[in-house]
Amino acid sequence: MLIVMKFGGSSVADAARIQNVARRIKRSYDAGNKVAVILSAQGDTTDDLIEKAHEINPRPSKREMDMLLATGEQQSVALMCMALEGMKVPCISLNANQCRIYATSNYSNARIKDINCERIRNELDAGKVVVITGFQGINRKGDVVTLGRGGSDTSAVAVAAKLNADLCEIYTDVDGVYTADPRHVKTAKKLSEISFDEMLEFASLGAQVLHNRSVELAKKYGVKLVVRSSLSEAEGTIVKEEAKVESMLISGVAVDKNVARISIIGVEDKPGTAYKLFAALARKNISVDIILQSIGRNGSKDISFTVARSDLQEALSAIENIKDVIKFDKLDHKENVAKVSIVGAGMATNAGVASLFFEAVYNAGVNVNMISTSEIKISILVDEKDADFAANKIHDAFIHQSSSLH
Ligand code: ADP
Ligand code: ASP
Ligand code: MG
Repeated sequence: MLIVMKFGGSSVADAARIQNVARRIKRSYDAGNKVAVILSAQGDTTDDLIEKAHEINPRPSKREMDMLLATGEQQSVALMCMALEGMKVPCISLNANQCRIYATSNYSNARIKDINCERIRNELDAGKVVVITGFQGINRKGDVVTLGRGGSDTSAVAVAAKLNADLCEIYTDVDGVYTADPRHVKTAKKLSEISFDEMLEFASLGAQVLHNRSVELAKKYGVKLVVRSSLSEAEGTIVKEEAKVESMLISGVAVDKNVARISIIGVEDKPGTAYKLFAALARKNISVDIILQSIGRNGSKDISFTVARSDLQEALSAIENIKDVIKFDKLDHKENVAKVSIVGAGMATNAGVASLFFEAVYNAGVNVNMISTSEIKISILVDEKDADFAANKIHDAFIHQSSSLH
């Protein structure tokens, strides 16, 4: 079999963890598999590098930031090969440039466009374990670009898709995908399977266990994907096209704290205002999430929406720049907010879901600032300090009461 194994930061955090992962790779290699490995930077290396950069310049250019962050993954692959060499496993480490992982130009948030797998294939055919840097690609200029936080999952799935691998295993620090973040919701249960569509929504809403683009790619190319722990032998969660329905009405609860709210107060109430506003943000590549518009009164209205917290400053300056075009009284924002969501394909056909959700939020005594729904999710914006408590209450309500709604 040809297997792609991806190990996240916590799985390679120190020398002992690297040796542990190397033993797992050796086991798979010794079993006769061809093995390509994708690695993240060790432990908190990426966060530490960001901090280091900010000590020198609080707003460094994205290009130089990518140059810096890409070094984290490069350390991991070299160290892993040293561990494998020590175990007499033939291996080679490669970075994105050596593997020809082509990506779009946008620094810090690039997307993989294509991979020329010739080098990887040749090394695999020569009997080597190929250990590849996650999270990075090269753009048209040949510059290194990164794929967004958590992007190593996407590197792994892209390599698996291009190599037509039999399996892509994502090894992390939890046993699989749970009904909620097991670190914050003690009653969370492991799912044995989840569908691509639900996982995509779950990941996009903040369940960081998989990078959302990795799920998108796995669905598109039919990659067999498993999420499991690098520290235990427990069976993981299979992510696939059609997953069997579990007993819960929803597949899970997600919390996203990388959120900020922007409100534009007293904006002119006339056609084209929303268009001009959101076009200005789109030009800066800023994604807008929950949007709320008040009813117009005396020729003006308010528009509120959320953006990723990491985009807040850029979004505020983009709006200030079009103040003369859209004319508003005040630009307001709040950073310490979070989005709490439930996800589940069965929701659309079950009338009780919304009421159970809002009842749980009410019982938690948590105030809802904004609401957004789709066929398979409900999201609310709350104060960040309330988010984990609300998630626990919502999760418990669905665990305990979902059977009565069937
Ligand atoms: P890695 O470094 O291996 O990529 P991440 O930190 O990116 O690991 O993702 C794993 C973490 O995702 C877990 O430690 C867990 O706290 C968090 N997480 C959030 N939601 C979920 C969920 N629904 N199921 C499992 N883990 C989750
Ligand atoms: N090292 C990167 C990050 O911390 C990429 C990854 O781990 O997936 O976001
Ligand atoms: Mg991750």
